[in-house]
Amino acid sequence: MARIPKELVDQIIQTADIVEVVGDFVQLKRKGQNMWAPCPFHNEKSPSFSVNPAKSLYKCFGCGKAGGVVQFVMDVEGTSYVEALKYLAKKYAITIEEEEKTPQQQLEQNERDSQFIVSDWAKNHFHRLLLNSEEGMSIGYGYLKERGLNLATIQQFELGYSLDSWDDLLKAAETAGYDKKYLEKTGLTVIKTDDQGQDTGRRYDRFRGRVMFPIHNISGRVVGFGARTLKRDDKMAKYLNSPESEIYHKSDVLYGLFQARQAIRTQEVCYLVEGYLDVLSLYQGGIKNVVASSGTSLTEGQIRLIKRYSDNVTVLYDGDAAGIKASLRGTTCSSKAA
Ligand SMILES: [Zn+2]
Repeated sequence: MARIPKELVDQIIQTADIVEVVGDFVQLKRKGQNMWAPCPFHNEKSPSFSVNPAKSLYKCFGCGKAGGVVQFVMDVEGTSYVEALKYLAKKYAITIEEEEKTPQQQLEQNERDSQFIVSDWAKNHFHRLLLNSEEGMSIGYGYLKERGLNLATIQQFELGYSLDSWDDLLKAAETAGYDKKYLEKTGLTVIKTDDQGQDTGRRYDRFRGRVMFPIHNISGRVVGFGARTLKRDDKMAKYLNSPESEIYHKSDVLYGLFQARQAIRTQEVCYLVEGYLDVLSLYQGGIKNVVASSGTSLTEGQIRLIKRYSDNVTVLYDGDAAGIKASLRGTTCSSKAA
């Protein structure tokens, strides 16, 4: 594991403003000397989670979680100490000089970080293919352009394209030195089984010939993908999503929330739409406080996520109206015809 010099650790901790860092995850409100919010670690209605800005500490009087700014990032992101420091360094534009590591050394940091790393690499691979390969340009980019998306939006949401091939990603991962087991763990590849369901030892790319929509968690790391085929084949699902993994829990992720969260907080309302392209079109049109519940019907976990930023949700699709109303109980919810 990489070592970060002590002076740099001190600099990161001194620079990081705990109110800002925590404020990226919950809506803090001042009451007396402390700031308060519903706890991000347990489910509750009245806030028992407090931040003391003067001492740079947080404490929840409900579940007992407490600590400083690095501990908060470790708790909320489920990462290691070093990863939490890196997260803060990135947020405050502090450069961490690390010795160059091979992809294999990076992968050894730990299983979870490895899955983040391979997902990020795959995202870059798909993005390159969209903008730099003949197939990606003509099919993927062509489709997105036809849907009115411009290059800035495509880059901001890091959209991509997977080649219509059984092993393009597999081969590229091998060349880049990544361990294939993380491709399996994140669902980027599929294990080929025989008639009895036994592993044949063969693997193939899950996403083939599809426009790729990377799904980010709340701190901007890619945890999975939504993927749309452009083939006219009734037997093929139009949309395919990454399966659940150690880093991707569908019920706790909303598409677009990473990009939308500041706007949701400042505008004090979150628009909920049906699909990836709805999010992208509205965002490009200047309505930035918009998210979609990708590949699932709306869950309690997703509502809790939105409520970190605003109590107001406006639903912009019909969907299963009753189901949505039930999930949104306790939230100021209105519906508008899309
Ligand atoms: Zn708590």
